Amino acid sequence: MAEAHPPPDSKWWGWGDPSRRVELSETARAMLRDQLGAAQPAERVGLDQVTLPQARPLPAAVTGIVDEDCVQIDHEQRLRRAAGKSYPDLVRLRAGRLEAAPDAVLLPADAAQVTALLAACTREGVAVVPFGGGTSVVGGVDPYAGPHERLISIDLRRLRRVEIDPVSLVARLGPGLRGPEAEAALAARGYTLGHFPQSFEYATVGGFAATRSAGQASSGYGRFDDLVTSLTMETPVGRLATLDTPHTAAGPSLRQLALGSEGVLGVITDVGVRIRPAPEARRYEAWISPDFASGSELVRSLAQADALPDITRISDEAETRVSLALAGTSGVKKALFEAYLRLRGRHGGCLVVCGWEGERDSVERRRALSARVLRKGGGAVLGEAPGRSWERGRFDAPYLRDELIDLGYMVETLETSHTWSRLGDLYAGVERALEAALRGQRTPGIVLCHLSHAYRDGASLYFTWIAARRPGAEIEQWQAVKQAASEAIVAAGGTITHHHAVGRDHAPYMAAEVGETGLEALRALKHRLDPAAVMNPGKLLPD
Ligand SMILES: Cc1cc2nc3c(=O)[nH]c(=O)nc-3n(C[C@H](O)[C@H](O)[C@H](O)COP(=O)(O)OP(=O)(O)OC[C@H]3O[C@@H](n4cnc5c(N)ncnc54)[C@H](O)[C@@H]3O)c2cc1C
Repeated sequence: MAEAHPPPDSKWWGWGDPSRRVELSETARAMLRDQLGAAQPAERVGLDQVTLPQARPLPAAVTGIVDEDCVQIDHEQRLRRAAGKSYPDLVRLRAGRLEAAPDAVLLPADAAQVTALLAACTREGVAVVPFGGGTSVVGGVDPYAGPHERLISIDLRRLRRVEIDPVSLVARLGPGLRGPEAEAALAARGYTLGHFPQSFEYATVGGFAATRSAGQASSGYGRFDDLVTSLTMETPVGRLATLDTPHTAAGPSLRQLALGSEGVLGVITDVGVRIRPAPEARRYEAWISPDFASGSELVRSLAQADALPDITRISDEAETRVSLALAGTSGVKKALFEAYLRLRGRHGGCLVVCGWEGERDSVERRRALSARVLRKGGGAVLGEAPGRSWERGRFDAPYLRDELIDLGYMVETLETSHTWSRLGDLYAGVERALEAALRGQRTPGIVLCHLSHAYRDGASLYFTWIAARRPGAEIEQWQAVKQAASEAIVAAGGTITHHHAVGRDHAPYMAAEVGETGLEALRALKHRLDPAAVMNPGKLLPD
């Protein structure tokens, strides 16, 4: 079947463009061997060796809604919608061990077809997983049918409308636009959205809204949910559309109910977003702070003095060391490495990346203000070359993860956030839990962290851990570590997710997050909008 709207080429077993590789230097490999011991390289099966459960026939009342060539039941298309991009997803894909897959992938042409599909699935008892870019790292697109026997994946790829209101600086975007497609359409008219998560290459506008995504420049442009002015969501019982006004005091915000709803209430078919003129100038710099504690204080000072760069992130000592070693003389770039070495006299220190974007004058003025606060807090500038290196490599990490998995390492990330006064305890608690859990698996690991997405009242912490995999027991190993970290987050009173969303992986922690009454309110809402419980079963709310 010739596809009318082919997806971007991507690795079915890993991340991104199949023709791109971010290689690990020999120095980096040696460092990993030294610190983590020998790892057994991971095998990868071929596409045709992946077995999927037999597709169950679907009622014509469902499949007949979209054009014939927009019902996909072939092995590869089902496989590509059967998992997201978390470490356990990639382990299962590489091993060809998938327990479930959608019975079919349907590609509606417009919102009307989405409405019709949801109504038909409700009548026929067919579970629905809305699918954007499939980059979820929390089991958000798991093909779990809940109480139902059949499941379809609704791929929003064909909904890619772009409409710009240059007077209001608002754009209406279709949910199926991937990050680069949305940016290119806006750039053609001289605008930007400014939303650049690390998954930018493949994640979609609908996915950003459904997960309350946060981009790397969130301090300047805002998180995605800050950018949204209006939303339309088709639900099994009808359309929920919010007015396109800058603000309303008409009761609780329905827009906020749709944002972060992760496909459990309906399918987002239209998103109004604030846009800005494309930046005239960009300035990225690296700084170094003596240690993570004082670096975090530095970021707090920046936030509370209204001097935050648009991009602000500080790596802890371990992340600074490892990212520089992993970079070697390529990747996160030579200039950064050399500048860092020149400053080794500062006994290591922590890398701070800052970026300012906008009109030239504004960039220089805001940069000067930030620099004053940074210097006052003990920061030392490393210069623009390492900042630009960071910019060039800002989407490389998931490619590097594929290399690490090939070499036999478990690599995973998680994120949380808290107020400034409790961030230190959260950091210490999660780091301790990760290290202990990795030791408990007899695979001592490296635990890395950076602070990003800073606010006046707090910030987000983003942890990465790397350890040798336990061949044949990778999922159990991952589960033990993930559970320990999640429990440590809950114990410290942090959020179970600052921007990756809940999906299936975090659903068990929702009671701790929102309380029993909060859960009941969400359940009641879901029951009203999705009476047959067909929408993305098992996500967001615990079963
Ligand atoms: C390497 C990597 C880096 C990442 N970096 C970041 C980051 O920097 N910041 C960040 O916030 N996240 C990040 N993520 C997580 C992920 O990319 C985001 O959650 C993203 O917003 C998901 O978009 P998507 O289009 O891929 O959605 P999908 O993965 O397809 O779906 C995610 C969830 O949203 C639902 N959904 C999707 N589209 C719709 C729709 N139109 N209507 C209703 N529900 C829908 C799905 O059912 C699912 O529950 C990263 C992921 C990876 C793999």
